[in-house]
Amino acid sequence: MSRKRDVFTPPEISMVTSRKVSCNGGGGALGHPKVWYEMGHEDFVECKYCDRRFVLTGGSHDQPRAR
Ligand SMILES: [Zn+2]
Repeated sequence: MSRKRDVFTPPEISMVTSRKVSCNGGGGALGHPKVWYEMGHEDFVECKYCDRRFVLTGGSHDQPRAR
C-alpha cells in the first residue's frame, strides 16, 4: 500500500488499548523520531509528525468504518 503526500489523504488510524501510545511513523521514509503521546481526557490522540490517529479501543471514537 503506497501513499502519495501531494494529495490529501485521511490520517491513518491505529486502534490501541492504552491511553499512552508511541509513534515513530512506521519507520522508513515516513518515519520520525519516536514520540510518546498520552490521550488524557480524550479517547484518541493524533501524532503531530505524521498525522496518524490513535483511537482507544472501546472509546467513544471507536466506530466501525463501513469502508
Ligand atoms: Zn507519527
